[in-house]
Amino acid sequence: MRWQALAEKILSTTLPNTCPICGRAIGPFELLCSSCREKLNSLESSSKEERHRDFTLYYYAAYDHPLKELILAYKSGRWRLSSVITDLYAKLFQRFPPKCRYLTFIPATESSLYMRGFDHMKLIAKKLSERLDLALVYALKTVKDRRQAFSTSQERRALKNKFVSTSPLPERIVLIDDVYTTGSTVKDSVSALHASNAKEVLVYVLAKV
Ligand SMILES: [Zn+2]
Repeated sequence: MRWQALAEKILSTTLPNTCPICGRAIGPFELLCSSCREKLNSLESSSKEERHRDFTLYYYAAYDHPLKELILAYKSGRWRLSSVITDLYAKLFQRFPPKCRYLTFIPATESSLYMRGFDHMKLIAKKLSERLDLALVYALKTVKDRRQAFSTSQERRALKNKFVSTSPLPERIVLIDDVYTTGSTVKDSVSALHASNAKEVLVYVLAKV
């Protein structure tokens, strides 16, 4: 224990760590300060269910402080925050159980992969599928990646969308994304999932603008 305390002391002087939300100094192995963590947890009471024409949307909270700063810090490369984010999704799933065994995610586009160096939703999807014991399905591809592969009329129709799904999917599937803004990305994804057999899509996002 003494060695750990010493190591922490040395690390906090040589590699000062700050809370990505409020900027307060935190221990070298901590991800957030306790005050921001509490605030994020308390947002659970604001989570909601919304019925849309082609899907049901569940969101944890509004895209606002402190959730907004958390998401931005994660996407800009603080990938260890994936565990904090996974905890928040797990709370949302606990509040609105999906009654479904399959999970998929909206994949990063080539340009955002290039910019960030990692597929931020894929990492969350992997962690969530383990935590909640859901089967992870790689259902969606960005259209650019699949352009050469279109053969059926259904796939060609999907070309006007940003995403396509080519394998037959289970009838009921959970789709996760980080932020719901205009809904156009989610709608494109949902229509690609519908075109591949999914009849009911349950969309879980962390924040809604
Ligand atoms: Zn903080």
